[in-house]
Amino acid sequence: MYDPLTSTYSFPCPLGNEAKVPLSAFRLLERLPGAAHPAVYRILFSCRCGHDHPGLVSHDELDWAPLGAGAQTTFRNLMTSQDDSLASELAELAAARIRAGEWPWSFFCFLEGRPRPITPSSFALIAPGDGTFGVAVRCPACSAVSVNLVTREHVDIPFWNDARVGVVGHVFHTDALRAIDVFRAELLSARFDERRLDLER
Ligand SMILES: [Zn+2]
Ligand SMILES: [Zn+2]
Repeated sequence: MYDPLTSTYSFPCPLGNEAKVPLSAFRLLERLPGAAHPAVYRILFSCRCGHDHPGLVSHDELDWAPLGAGAQTTFRNLMTSQDDSLASELAELAAARIRAGEWPWSFFCFLEGRPRPITPSSFALIAPGDGTFGVAVRCPACSAVSVNLVTREHVDIPFWNDARVGVVGHVFHTDALRAIDVFRAELLSARFDERRLDLER
């Protein structure tokens, strides 16, 4: 259900049409207990119809499809005049960049005071604000939840990585972040400090 050419996930909209939304339209991501192979995430996404709907996304779809790993499409390779798989081409490009020390997504962990590489399943909440997005991220290294203020591209485009992000100066309790409305209210009253996101090479 992920289309790497448009960078969108598709879900059914209860009002009839298929909704194609980027990762930044997700509002809440929560790993379902139980399902492990593959892990499944319950998400809430902001639909073009004006409502938020629930959806299910597998771990692979969430974390690796944006890097091209699941693409079904082929393309005409002009150098060899053969049809090649877009999946292997995109996945190879992504692998080369990761080997070179880049990572598709990152955030600033407040508790550890340093940037950390992540994948989309580390996002817990995503809320659009005044031209930016507030994201609550569960650190894969220390499990603390930090809140960063980032651009839409930082969320939607793998390897974009904002050079500087806003960071709220305290760790968030997971319970306080269960609902998107509570998160929005937290964002409005929060103070952000600027931090650099360069990952160590
Ligand atoms: Zn809808
Ligand atoms: Zn951490």
